[in-house]
Amino acid sequence: MLPDMPPPAHAAPEIVVDAAIPAGNLAFVAIDGDTVRLRKDLRDTEGHWIYWAFRVCGAEGRTLAFEFLDPLGADAPDRGAVGTRGAAVSTDFGATWRWTDDVRDDPRDPATGDHASFSRFTWRFGPEDGEVWFSQTIPYGEREWGDFLSRHEADRGRVFETGTLCRSRKGRNVECARFGRLDGEAPLKILLTSRHHCGETSATFVLEGFLEAVFDDDDTGRRLRETAEIRAVPFVDKDGVVEGDQGKNRRPHDHNRDYGETTIYPETRAIRDMAAAWTAGGAPPVVLDFHSPWLRGSWLEPDNSNEYAYLVGKPEMEDRQRRFCEILERVQRGGVGFRAGDYYAFGRGWNTGRNYAAGASIIQWAIREWPESPLVASFEIPFANVRGTTLRPDVLRAFGRDVAAAVIAMMAEKR
Ligand SMILES: [Zn+2]
Repeated sequence: MLPDMPPPAHAAPEIVVDAAIPAGNLAFVAIDGDTVRLRKDLRDTEGHWIYWAFRVCGAEGRTLAFEFLDPLGADAPDRGAVGTRGAAVSTDFGATWRWTDDVRDDPRDPATGDHASFSRFTWRFGPEDGEVWFSQTIPYGEREWGDFLSRHEADRGRVFETGTLCRSRKGRNVECARFGRLDGEAPLKILLTSRHHCGETSATFVLEGFLEAVFDDDDTGRRLRETAEIRAVPFVDKDGVVEGDQGKNRRPHDHNRDYGETTIYPETRAIRDMAAAWTAGGAPPVVLDFHSPWLRGSWLEPDNSNEYAYLVGKPEMEDRQRRFCEILERVQRGGVGFRAGDYYAFGRGWNTGRNYAAGASIIQWAIREWPESPLVASFEIPFANVRGTTLRPDVLRAFGRDVAAAVIAMMAEKR
C-alpha cells in the first residue's frame, strides 16, 4: 500500500502468535492465510521433545489450522507435538482449560479414537475470542498451586504449612509444603515430588489430588492427619516450570538424573539434605515421584505405555511395588481405571538399565538410602487419555486421592 493511502475501512486485525503467557514456549511462527506454521523451542534439550505453549491474538471469527514443523529444523511435520485429544485451549487467560477435541472435530484415528495428527490441530475462534491460549498439556504452575492452597486457607497452620526448599539457579523460590500431622511426631513420613521434568503437568494434578486427601472427612483423611507428615515439592525443576522449558533430557543431564555421586542442581541437593535431616534416626519414608510419559502411544499395544497410568518397577522394591499396585487397583474410586497388571517391571519396554545411563534418579537414590522403606516408587500418568477415558484435572486429582488411600491401606496391612 502507498504511504499516503488511508487504511481500508474493514481491515482484518493482524493475527499475533507469540509465547507471552506463563510457561510460554515457541521458537518460530509463519502465518500463511488460515494456516499457522510453528516450531517448539527445544532450548537445551538433547534431541527432540514435546512441550510448547503460545497465545493467538486478533483471530476473532476465523478458523485457523496450526501445523508444527520438526523442531530440529527440517520442513517435515513434527511427529511429537499434538496429543491424543488435540491441544489444551483456554479462552479465559488460563483460568480454565479444555481439549480442542472436546469442541473441534479434527480427524480421529479409527482404531483408538485419538486425535489422528501428531503435528496439526484446528481451532474456530469465536467472535469474542480476542486472545486464546494453547498448550501441549493442561498447565500446572505457580498459579494452579496457589489456587489449590487458597481453597484450604482456613486449615493453614493446622493441616498444612508452606515453606521453601531452596532457591533455584535463577533465584526463584522452590516450594516445599508440609501436610498432615505437623507436630513432628508423625510415625509415617511421605515425600512427594513432581516436575523433575518440568513439562510433565499431569503429574502435579495427581500430586495435588494426593494432598487433597489430607483434608477429606473420611478414613484416609483422618489417618493422614493423625499419623502422617507429608512433604511435597511440586516443582523440582522450578526454573523450567516457570520458563516453559522441555526439561526432559536437558543437557548435560536432567533433574531426574542428578541423584548420583555429584549433583548439579540446587533442588536435588536440597531434597537430599532435607530428607536426610527429616528422617534421621526415624522410620524410613514413603517416597513417591510423579511423572508424565511421552506425548502419546497406543493403548492397544501392551508395552506401548503412554496411554495408561502405571508404576515404574524397580527390582529391589518389586514385591512392595506389586503389592501396592494390587491395593491401588482394589481401593480406587476415580476414573483412571488403574490396573495392577500394568506394573512396568524392570526389563519391560523402555525400563532398562540403559535408561539410567546418564545418572541416578530420585527413586534409585531413595531405594539406596532407605532399602527398608514401605514403598519407593515413581508413577507415569498420561497427558490426555487412559484407554479411551479423557484426562482432565478432576480425573487426575481423583487418581491422586486413590494413591493416598492405597498408601494408607498398605500401611494398615503392615500393622
Ligand atoms: Zn518424567
